[in-house]
Amino acid sequence: MQVGRGYTPRVNSEVLPSAKTFIHSLGLEDLTAHLGQHGQPAYRAKQVMDWLYEKRVGSCDEMTDLPQALRTQLAADFELRAPETVRVLGSKDTTQKFLFRLRDGNLIESVLIPASPALYGERSDRRTICVSSQVGCAYGCKFCASGLDGWTRNLDAGEIVQQLMAVEAQSGEKIDNVVFMGMGEPLANLKNLKRAIQIINAPWGLEIGARHITVSTSGLAPQIRELAEDPTQFRLALSLHGATDEVRSRIMPVNRKYNLKTLLEACDYYVAKKRRIMFEYILIADINDTEEQAHALAKIARRLSAKINLIPYNTVEGLAWSRPSRARQERFHAILREHGVVSTLRREKGHDIAAACGQLRLQAKREATAPLQPSTP
Ligand code: SAH
Ligand code: SF4
Repeated sequence: MQVGRGYTPRVNSEVLPSAKTFIHSLGLEDLTAHLGQHGQPAYRAKQVMDWLYEKRVGSCDEMTDLPQALRTQLAADFELRAPETVRVLGSKDTTQKFLFRLRDGNLIESVLIPASPALYGERSDRRTICVSSQVGCAYGCKFCASGLDGWTRNLDAGEIVQQLMAVEAQSGEKIDNVVFMGMGEPLANLKNLKRAIQIINAPWGLEIGARHITVSTSGLAPQIRELAEDPTQFRLALSLHGATDEVRSRIMPVNRKYNLKTLLEACDYYVAKKRRIMFEYILIADINDTEEQAHALAKIARRLSAKINLIPYNTVEGLAWSRPSRARQERFHAILREHGVVSTLRREKGHDIAAACGQLRLQAKREATAPLQPSTP
């Protein structure tokens, strides 16, 4: 897909052809099959998963109940290294942001939210991680920091899974909720996304319930249909941000490819086949915050029985957009209520989190004149 401003296919050629597979990208079946080829019984795969996800070792040498030859073999075949943590912002009890450097030097970020008051319909004592699914994003939404530099590459399943593990290791917190609202468009990386969700969800993996995993999309209609066939019961959130084609196309180039009619038909299909969708709607001053948009949005929400999260826009350095006044936000919210649509309006300043994804990386890249680390690999 080549949508949007600043799209530059900068796939890093040293990224992967010759590099080793991430062991954290493998499902139990893949590992069982791999070990089988080396003459190992099936129970070895479970042992390895236990070392990886229960005991969380960082090297094969620590897998002490495996024969030495097998440890050596695994170390030769797979990558176990965690991403390097370049920077952590924030502190316990507040939103914490983590900037990671991947093995090819690319930067990604994850955000840990200590409590998420009614954020995605969850209890408020849950710890939520917002993960990235790609390096950059090709979709170029006009208000978003992640799309500013275009798309570089997809993340491997293991690179997604390792964000959770690294954040748990660094923060000492157990994560209960995962939202794919960091950098990237998860449905444009569907194969690795599904694989990552499988590992995050599996009893041999990170064991986070599917209902505690939310995938957010800017509206890739064919992939939404494809997900309707996927049996895993994770949640799907749709970034609507405009209730008419005119407004939506102005801020989200993807709407020119899949307009509202196409998108909503895919959503109808998904909802009929699988489960409800949630809407996200950022309120941007003088762009999508009019009363007409509120009425049109309510109509769409009713059609799909969707709940709406209204999110006051979080300013991005270098972009001219801003959030509407509180009164205007409230008015928009009230109109939805008048239509009988369930919606939440985020109030807490400190919770502009998911929104802020992509911004830390941008900042780090802009600071290139003052390197964060003396040397990079
Ligand atoms: N690409 C996916 C998931 C990542 S973006 C998607 O677009 O849904 C996650 C959410 O953050 C989206 O709803 C996105 O529109 C929103 N977002 C991006 N930049 C924002 C900003 N500056 N303020 C508020 N929300 C923002
Ligand atoms: Fe990409 Fe989502 Fe940002 Fe749009 S909002 S540029 S799809 S990350």
